[in-house]
Amino acid sequence: MQIDANLPKILPRLREEAQAVVRRKGYLSRRLRIGLPTLRTAAGWCVFFNEGCVLHQMGAEEEDKFRYKPAACALFPIQADENGNWYVRQKGYKKEGWDLFCLDPQNSAKPAAESLQEELALAQRFEDEYQAKARQGDSSTAFTPR
Ligand code: SF4
Repeated sequence: MQIDANLPKILPRLREEAQAVVRRKGYLSRRLRIGLPTLRTAAGWCVFFNEGCVLHQMGAEEEDKFRYKPAACALFPIQADENGNWYVRQKGYKKEGWDLFCLDPQNSAKPAAESLQEELALAQRFEDEYQAKARQGDSSTAFTPR
């Protein structure tokens, strides 16, 4: 909803080929991951990537870097496993398949509990919202991180 409502100001900041894809087909693909649609790509990159994440940059300019980002992107590399337990994606853990520099604990002496404080707070917020809805018997969630 946030992206839809702000698309007119997001679009001009995207790469030309990404603008064309979004105008023609929208920004969501039909491919699902953890039950949610994934973002479309243009020339091999997420349509919102333009020398960094445009959605992140726009939010940061308004002092809330998570304002426009999809929940899964805002939380990365934190996610919940199939039992609802939150964990940090990292090389060598839970069959992590993505070979990213930032997912290798060998590349930083700083523990994730320090470097991911904002993401951890966001995960806590999602968990609190999820638990509050569950207590009210509401099984719907805007974002289901589990
Ligand atoms: S963080 Fe998400 S929305 Fe932003 S460029 Fe990466 S995949 Fe796209």
